[in-house]
Amino acid sequence: MSGTTELDTTKAYLVPVAHLELTGEPDLTHLALYTWVERIGLWATEAGICGRTTEQGPLPAGTEVTCLGCLNRKPVYEQLLYSHNNRHQLEAEARRQQAFAEDTPENGAWHTVWLEGNWSWVTKKMTTAAQREYAADRVAAYSRYLATCDGDLDREEPDGLRWWREAGR
Ligand SMILES: [Zn+2]
Repeated sequence: MSGTTELDTTKAYLVPVAHLELTGEPDLTHLALYTWVERIGLWATEAGICGRTTEQGPLPAGTEVTCLGCLNRKPVYEQLLYSHNNRHQLEAEARRQQAFAEDTPENGAWHTVWLEGNWSWVTKKMTTAAQREYAADRVAAYSRYLATCDGDLDREEPDGLRWWREAGR
């Protein structure tokens, strides 16, 4: 965590920190969260993850951590940091997984009807509004799957898919 490392201010890091220079303070190296503090516009370390107050600022990366309390909590903190630091990637991955689950024969079949058939005629022939919505849901789901394959996570529903909801039709 030296000055040469490019830190991302939206992320948090786990760094070695020195114990306070106080008599009776155990001679240990602790681990602390290192985060960007927006209010003061600086990077700062928090207390040791064992709960002990520590010196401000990280020790050089690779400094051996000797506090057992910190070492015991390290795996949990690493897990939390991973989730925190990769929140966006994890959310995108979850959306991707969900979209791939929508690659079903039924969704694909309805999507072909939408694409190749006369959609408004077919859906007008349906008996209930619920049936039309169901068919449109299947098309929309398959369309999300196709958008995900294209890497386009913000693509909206195809225009005119639910023509019955649009005004003036
Ligand atoms: Zn500690």
